[in-house]
Amino acid sequence: MSAKEHNRPLAGFFMYRGRFAPSPSGPLHFGSLIAALGSYLDARSRNGEWLLRMDDLDPPREVPGAADDILRTLEAFGLQWDGTVMYQSHRQAAYQAALGQLQQEKRVFPCGCTRRETGPVYPGTCRNGLPAGREQRSVRLRVTDEAIAFTDRLQGDISISLVTLSGDFVIRRADDLFAYHLACAVDDHAQGITDVVRGADLLDASCNQIWLQQQLHYLVPRYLHLPVAVNTRGDKLSKKTQAPALNAAHAAQTLVAALEFLGQQTDSCMGTAQVEEILAAATLSWDPARIPAATQILV
Ligand code: GLU
Repeated sequence: MSAKEHNRPLAGFFMYRGRFAPSPSGPLHFGSLIAALGSYLDARSRNGEWLLRMDDLDPPREVPGAADDILRTLEAFGLQWDGTVMYQSHRQAAYQAALGQLQQEKRVFPCGCTRRETGPVYPGTCRNGLPAGREQRSVRLRVTDEAIAFTDRLQGDISISLVTLSGDFVIRRADDLFAYHLACAVDDHAQGITDVVRGADLLDASCNQIWLQQQLHYLVPRYLHLPVAVNTRGDKLSKKTQAPALNAAHAAQTLVAALEFLGQQTDSCMGTAQVEEILAAATLSWDPARIPAATQILV
């Protein structure tokens, strides 16, 4: 599908294509299930497609076997995706082409700074040329002080200046890997994604990615940022915070817990142990307006 076909009415529905994009840095946990389920139900309730992308562009962070484990877990939870899985590790040529386009349009510049030197917000050290004696380490995309503004379907109007958020940001890393923002923007476009539903921990990232979409002349998808599950210390459930892996033996009850987390009705699926039935009922009753509009919820 070409980008121009976004929002083409299809048999009475607007064309919808969503996605789930896990990183194979470990098994899925309750926090990742929220993103998977939210994006799945939003797509299925709109008669849309739900694609799967494996964000395996960072080999040092990868855990052997995690990608396959994620696929098996999604299947055990009844979250069946459409089409074939896209693997970012196979997408180097597409990222290179996007980088080439940005270079040609003079949107990027070589940077010789280390992260320690720049801090989280890039001060612009190399944006007018590498200082004498400096070697290129990374490639950065220029930003302007115009705010990135969009309406998140749950969080409402967002307006963030990239100058204060990140400054000019890295799209090709010092270790020669393409950065997540570039890969995500290129792949969401290539997959024809119309709706991105994911955790609110990526709200800032969406601003960087919208800027990239604009620089690459892509259409900007709609966004819905779900609340993120956090522990009592306020840390996001993740491998780092030792969130337990999802257990396929408890798939039905875990799905119901995830639906409750998302503020959805669960009465019609309480009595069943069948994940397919739970998902069918949840698709019918899916109501994004019931999702708590917080960015974090304690579990
Ligand atoms: N793979 C990343 C993550 O799991 C990004 C997900 C996304 O872009 O939706 O946090």
